[in-house]
Amino acid sequence: MINIDGSKGEGGGQIIRTSLSLSALTGKPFSIKNIRAGRHKPGLMRQHLTALKATAAICGGKYSALNGVGTREFFFHPGTVTGGRYEFAIGTAGSTMLVLQTILPPLLLAQKPSHIEISGGTHNPMSPPFDFVAGSYSSMLEKMGANIKLHLARPGFVPAGGGCVVAQIEPVASLVPLKMLEPGKHLATSAKAIFCNMPFDIASRELDTLGKALDLGPDQLKPHEVKADGSGNALIVNVEHENKTEQFTAFGQRGKKAEQVADDLADEVKAFVKANVAIGPHLADQLLLPMAMAGEGSFTTLEPTLHTLTNAAVIEEFLPVKISFDKLATGQG
Ligand code: ATP
Repeated sequence: MINIDGSKGEGGGQIIRTSLSLSALTGKPFSIKNIRAGRHKPGLMRQHLTALKATAAICGGKYSALNGVGTREFFFHPGTVTGGRYEFAIGTAGSTMLVLQTILPPLLLAQKPSHIEISGGTHNPMSPPFDFVAGSYSSMLEKMGANIKLHLARPGFVPAGGGCVVAQIEPVASLVPLKMLEPGKHLATSAKAIFCNMPFDIASRELDTLGKALDLGPDQLKPHEVKADGSGNALIVNVEHENKTEQFTAFGQRGKKAEQVADDLADEVKAFVKANVAIGPHLADQLLLPMAMAGEGSFTTLEPTLHTLTNAAVIEEFLPVKISFDKLATGQG
């Protein structure tokens, strides 16, 4: 039994999700205490509860009695991962993408293909939005040999939720190691402003500001109105390099001007492009697990976040890998 302390490092939800993924993958049971001790509202939220139940469903896993939302500890005994057709509902606007990222690693190495439907939020602040998972994360997994098709059946924003994502996963025998040291030549940058049940003017102001800040013309700036429950607004910049494409996202917030949302996002994009690293900070923390599954791999990125360092420590509890971070003379991480 591996004992995980959920208060270590960042003390957030990733500790639970990585433990679940790797427990199902390795067959190693684990117990976790002090769940999300570093967060304002500690314990399991609906998204984490769904990730736990979904992982148990795909591997016939057993877990200790839970006290629902707010549960501070549990143990988990995995069974055998079985691909197939599964549906999971978070029941709130909790992130479907984070639930998917929990069950994807074990299902990638299952004996048969999977068809997964998850309902909840698909474009959540502080989580990878659908476009990022489909465009950045999955394309990296594809470079590692995976075959995943993602379909946004319905977008879901916070707080209304009501979104649905469908994933088709063709399993592979193992993942191929990935080495991403250079982004390659910068090919193109474009942006889209997704908006729903709010004035077009918000998307238009965001795109105008981004256009000026990143020197993008009208052809590279697309407003994209969608139908969903409630209102929502996500501004996404697509940065294409020779070796890979990555998305950067900001969310419209009540009380924050559209221009400010766009300017903050432009600063994030500029910092990434200027650093000339291969992988952005969010993708960096999400790539560690598949790379560890492949047994080796390396990439250049910006200075590792606490999230990345915490995730690395959890991965090392389950897999016989050593994840090291070397500061490069060029300033790259
Ligand atoms: P909590 O932090 O409340 O415990 P959680 O379980 O919702 O919560 P975290 O553990 O913080 O989430 O993990 C969030 C994940 O979402 C991380 O992998 C992070 O890189 C990713 N993420 C956050 N914002 C973005 C973004 N804009 N684009 C891509 N990925 C993102």
